[in-house]
Amino acid sequence: MNKEGILIVICGPSGVGKGTVCKEFLGKNRNIKLSVSATTRSPRIGEVDGVSYHFLETGQFEKMVENGEFIEYARVYENYYGTPKAEVLKNLHNGEDVLLEIDIQGAMQVKSSYPDAVFVFILPPSLGELRDRIVKRGSETEESLKLRFGSAYDEICKIENFDYFVVNDDIEKAVRQLDCIMMAEKSRVLRNKENILENFKEEI
Ligand code: 5GP
Repeated sequence: MNKEGILIVICGPSGVGKGTVCKEFLGKNRNIKLSVSATTRSPRIGEVDGVSYHFLETGQFEKMVENGEFIEYARVYENYYGTPKAEVLKNLHNGEDVLLEIDIQGAMQVKSSYPDAVFVFILPPSLGELRDRIVKRGSETEESLKLRFGSAYDEICKIENFDYFVVNDDIEKAVRQLDCIMMAEKSRVLRNKENILENFKEEI
């Protein structure tokens, strides 16, 4: 029997470094597939269509919403972002683990339709540190910087909806913590019950 893969949902305020943590984590765990989101935001320098995001026109995005092609989607900082369904479900059914790096509105949608998913929230060491990181990134206008920083505390207040938190004060440590979370989740009896029973039954 092919066991379903685990769906891992990683959230955290803008600028917390979840992109870097996820990249390092996936680099160490090549068997985990990253879901490439669709967005109506314009590409930043260095971003590649189909790799960083699927960059879509608003009309194209809305068509996908109409056709029910997203697991979840949300409007974040004046743009649409969404997780295309087909690829994620295919990988999970093939027994492969899939990682979603999405915002909290999307995570809550996933939670209602995929309660078995693992929800991880990445925290900054402090709000001051978060602000410095966003400013340093230099990719935001003053307006969007205010917007992103303003939402950070509101998002942190919703942490009770998550299974685990990881403080990103050191990338390596954060990645190790994610490794441990995955190991713990893979050892859950509920996820393995049928396989365990099947294996032992064969020996009787
Ligand atoms: P950025 O514009 O900085 O790449 O992303 C802005 C926010 O959108 C981040 O919090 C990111 O996690 C979130 N995001 C990226 N992809 C998705 C997605 O597919 N769905 C949702 N709901 N949020 C996403």
